[in-house]
Amino acid sequence: MASKAVDSERSCVLCCQYLDIYAVGKCDHPVCYRCSTKMRVLCEQKYCAVCREELDKVVFVNKPAPFTSLPLQQMQYEKKHDIYFEDGKLIAQFRKLLQHECTLCPSMRPFHAFAELEQHMRKHHELFCCKLCVRHLKNFTYERTWYARRDLARHRIRGDPEDTSHRGHPLCKFCDERYLDNDELLKHLRRDHYFCHFCDSEGAQEYYSEYSFLREHFRQSHFLCEEGQCNTEQFTHAFPSEIDYKAHKTACHSKNRAEARQNRQIDIQFSYAPRHNRRAEGTSAECIQDNPADDAAAPDQAATAAAPPPDQTAPPPDQALSDVGTQTANAFYDHTELLITLVHQVNAMRQELQEVRDLVHSLQRDSTPPRPL
Ligand SMILES: [Zn+2]
Ligand SMILES: [Zn+2]
Ligand SMILES: [Zn+2]
Ligand SMILES: [Zn+2]
Ligand SMILES: [Zn+2]
Ligand SMILES: [Zn+2]
Ligand SMILES: [Zn+2]
Repeated sequence: MASKAVDSERSCVLCCQYLDIYAVGKCDHPVCYRCSTKMRVLCEQKYCAVCREELDKVVFVNKPAPFTSLPLQQMQYEKKHDIYFEDGKLIAQFRKLLQHECTLCPSMRPFHAFAELEQHMRKHHELFCCKLCVRHLKNFTYERTWYARRDLARHRIRGDPEDTSHRGHPLCKFCDERYLDNDELLKHLRRDHYFCHFCDSEGAQEYYSEYSFLREHFRQSHFLCEEGQCNTEQFTHAFPSEIDYKAHKTACHSKNRAEARQNRQIDIQFSYAPRHNRRAEGTSAECIQDNPADDAAAPDQAATAAAPPPDQTAPPPDQALSDVGTQTANAFYDHTELLITLVHQVNAMRQELQEVRDLVHSLQRDSTPPRPL
């Protein structure tokens, strides 16, 4: 397997360029010296880009050879990045990759640092590099593009005409700052601005520069609690549904049992939405809950409502039939409504009864004198 990799055809598996100088490590996956230098020096990574094995040393050679056959002890090497060179010519090629040279002034000596070249380009040629590209893209200096002022602006906003893969650096409209790409912009938006976690989980891409705007969104599109402590909260005082909101109100803001019951009651009320002709004088859920004493009378009232009043003149047969139908339906809803209300009420009473029982037990425990042994 190793010897097969070494004998493979003469183009770099990573950049597809002609393999003039080979970089070989212990896994025997040769890549070109440019890719190897980029990896070890610019990205500060020592693993093989083909198999990801950590390579403590690599050797730059003119002809491919198995790593174990190379006489490392006799070679010159670059200590910081553990690169060994077959001959002096390869050292020179390696250094050339990393130098900061002005291609417009060939007679000039290369600069020590990229910042010096940048300064020279600005002062003497009025050319600029894109700071975002310099900061984020691990490229050699000779690969960088220098722009006139106007071209740099175009590069930042729309990209370069000859490079269709880059369509400019996206802008954060809140900060008026550009970011390398959409991923970087998104990271910034999520880190430094606000978004609605309810809408976000449904795939919305909406951001808010300040919390006050998000609060307004919560208020308009979801359920926002602004009572007491919740008024100064962030995120935790917003609820995706009315049920969650009411449950929160009951749990956190109900001062006494009556109020808690009131909050439970509202839940019951909106579950009756399907009924069409809500009877004005009829027994509503609230009445029943407020006056448990009326409970016994309620079914009778509902039943009376289903029957036509005695003084009503007889309608034509068809209408009479449909009226009976409507009234039957109303009576059905009334009974269903009543049943649901009663179930809720029984549950509530059961809970209250349990609370009383617990209280009695705890009182008994406290008052019982210790039994003699
Ligand atoms: Zn390469
Ligand atoms: Zn490898
Ligand atoms: Zn120059
Ligand atoms: Zn750029
Ligand atoms: Zn921003
Ligand atoms: Zn939302
Ligand atoms: Zn609250």
